[in-house]
Amino acid sequence: MKTVSSLLDAHWYERYKNIAKLNIRSSIYDVTDRCNLRCKGCFFFSSGEHEAAAEEKDVSKWHAFVEKEMARGVNLAILIGGEPTLCLDRIEAFYKRLPTFCATNGLIKVPRERFPDMMVGISLWGEAEDEITLRGKDTFKISSANYAGDPHAYYLYTITPKQLGKTEKIIKKIEGVGLKVHMQLLSNDEAVDGFSWTPEELVAVRAEMDAMLEAYPRTVISSKYYHKVITTGQMLGRPFGWMECPSVTDTIDKRVPQPKRLTNFIRWASDLQTVHRCCTSETRDCATCKDGAAHMSWVMVNKRAHMQSTEELQNWIEVYEMFAKLYQFIPW
Ligand code: SF4
Ligand code: SF4
Repeated sequence: MKTVSSLLDAHWYERYKNIAKLNIRSSIYDVTDRCNLRCKGCFFFSSGEHEAAAEEKDVSKWHAFVEKEMARGVNLAILIGGEPTLCLDRIEAFYKRLPTFCATNGLIKVPRERFPDMMVGISLWGEAEDEITLRGKDTFKISSANYAGDPHAYYLYTITPKQLGKTEKIIKKIEGVGLKVHMQLLSNDEAVDGFSWTPEELVAVRAEMDAMLEAYPRTVISSKYYHKVITTGQMLGRPFGWMECPSVTDTIDKRVPQPKRLTNFIRWASDLQTVHRCCTSETRDCATCKDGAAHMSWVMVNKRAHMQSTEELQNWIEVYEMFAKLYQFIPW
């Protein structure tokens, strides 16, 4: 049997050891059912997840809940919504105790005196024109003013088919405000005309993502293998989908055979009792899913399958490092 050390030289083995010790155990939390935007294609609102539960309003319950989550072994809290920054007291219940990541549209600035080193992922859906079409607002103008130069923030750039040929402009804008960027793809959950991917567009966007990583390696946090997996929906000849997805809530996961999955992962609704199916839309057809985190995690939980060759194991390491950077487990 091939071993990790037999496949890697000293440099790669050192990189492997740096991530192998992390043992990341994440779960995802809907901090609120409300948002200050209503984007077309928002998985949360389009799937009715905002109506699945009534928000727990007693902040002391959030504190007690986080303690219970830590006892369950969670060591990374990923906060989503709705818009988490509408409820800073709830965010604080996590941040005081755990490595915490907060997804936001960036319209409200997280007060850094209260959350000095919390990683913030700011959503961006393209150029001003596309942002106005899909989100009703050019959010970049506001979010970049709020977070320019912040070492604990990056843009989570959702690329749409309309962005083909235009991503460099966006990456340059982000670089210009001193922030990093991670790319993912729109799943078009509300079937907005012209925003669903064709096979040809997926080929083209992969090439464009690769080119951006090559041209802006200090700004773009990514890996070519991640681009390959997310655009093709294939990993080592296996198709992504429900029977492979690693990001299904543990307590409802009755799949047989059980795929490799995130240990103890749960996506909690804002009542702190209800759970959602997975890390993204409750109603999305898994065959159309382009969720970036689910694809990254898919690679990460399948280490053994990437031990057939040096190249495959190096691909695995690069994806794991990308995830670890995005959630602040290792430096940029
Ligand atoms: S900002 Fe995020 S949560 Fe709010 S509507 Fe847009 S995609 Fe949904
Ligand atoms: S929608 Fe995506 S993340 Fe959710 S279960 Fe299906 S494949 Fe997994």
